[in-house]
Parts: sequence; structure tokens; C-alpha cells
Amino acid sequence: MRCISTKCEICSVNPAEYTCRMCGRRVCSEDYDVEEGLCKICKSARCEVCKRQLAITTCKYCRRLVCEDCSIQISLVEYVCIDCYKKVVKSENR
Ligand SMILES: [Zn+2]
Ligand SMILES: [Zn+2]
Ligand SMILES: [Zn+2]
Ligand SMILES: [Zn+2]
Repeated sequence: MRCISTKCEICSVNPAEYTCRMCGRRVCSEDYDVEEGLCKICKSARCEVCKRQLAITTCKYCRRLVCEDCSIQISLVEYVCIDCYKKVVKSENR
């Protein structure tokens, strides 16, 4: 078995043409956003605050996806984004 052209790691059908700059997956043009340089998985799973990193959780208040850098853990299982943290959590504590 020879494997000359790498298959897209998302659909496993089309040949991979691009490499996602975030996750490093080899993906086909259908699963890749050329302008953003991201595969569609990263596009749908990236942080909605900085739009640069993969999100790890959702904000308790605005429900946006947020990455490690843009989220603040407020309890064992709850996270808020930095924007909501400034708006909601800080004012609650006053
Ligand atoms: Zn594909
Ligand atoms: Zn990716
Ligand atoms: Zn972020
Ligand atoms: Zn938020």
C-alpha cells in the first residue's frame, strides 16, 4: 500500500491541499478557509474573543466560546469570558 497524496484529515475523501495554521491538520480546500488559514473544525471551535486560539470552554453569561487566555474560571465548573468578567463579575462583587 502506497500513500502518495495525503487525504484530508476531516473528510478523509479529498486530497489534502492545505495545512491548518492552528491545529496543523492537513485538509482539503472544501474544509479550509483560505482567508483565515483555518480548517473548518478550528473555525467553529476557536475562541470568539481573540479569534486566535482554540476555545476550551464557553462563557457562562454570553455563551461565546473562549480560550484559556480569554476565560476566567469563577468556580469549579464555570468560566466567563474576559468581557463578561469585567462587566458582570466585578460589578457583582461591589
Ligand atoms: Zn476535506
Ligand atoms: Zn485546524
Ligand atoms: Zn481567546
Ligand atoms: Zn462572556
